[in-house]
Amino acid sequence: MASQQSEDFSPHGNQGIKKPCRTCSDFKTWTTNLNQNANVQEKMNSQISQSTGAETKSSFRPTIHTVEKTFPECPLDRQQLGRNSWSVLHTIAAYYPETPTVDQQKDMVQFMALFTKFYPCTDCSEDFKERLIANPPATQNNSILSQWLCAMHNEVNVKLGKPEFDCNLVNQRWRNGWKD
Ligand code: FAD
Repeated sequence: MASQQSEDFSPHGNQGIKKPCRTCSDFKTWTTNLNQNANVQEKMNSQISQSTGAETKSSFRPTIHTVEKTFPECPLDRQQLGRNSWSVLHTIAAYYPETPTVDQQKDMVQFMALFTKFYPCTDCSEDFKERLIANPPATQNNSILSQWLCAMHNEVNVKLGKPEFDCNLVNQRWRNGWKD
């Protein structure tokens, strides 16, 4: 499994400046990496100024707070991507048919595999791929699929040190709403 450090950067390095991968990082790491790159950029600018006498400007220097406040609609980080993705997956499971056809069951297995294949947080997708092999989607009906997904999400919760969700409440959370 690739390390966090290598996953935090996409491989488009240019003159010592690597482009951070937003969806593989949390927001803080991502902006820290951007700032580190800004420092590299500034050093390069300073060297150019010294050798040519020309003024150069740093092309970017965002901070965590300014980026967060100024661009509320900017690309998803690892956490936002995760939250939104779980929402889609649990909602799909909640509305999966009660009596799916054989084709629908096959499609659901394929959907989970393809979703994981293209999930744009590489270490998350590598990890989830292994979990899918160990515990393939249970697609007999929506209740069984929802319970399977809840258990898979709980595995990730445990790995990340988050509390486990009570799977008895999965329909209230993702389909019917909370009971009063
Ligand atoms: P989330 O875990 O995103 O949960 C969102 C909401 O879902 C919660 O508020 C709760 O109401 C509900 N919920 C929680 N648990 C369950 C459950 N078991 N069943 C039903 N509902 C539940 N991040 C990593 O850092 N490393 C990884 O390897 C990784 N793998 C991931 C794999 C997948 C397939 C996905 C979709 C995401 C992955 N993530 C990973 C992201 C991570 O799981 C979280 O989404 C992210 O950390 C944000 O967490 P959160 O605390 O906002 O709540």
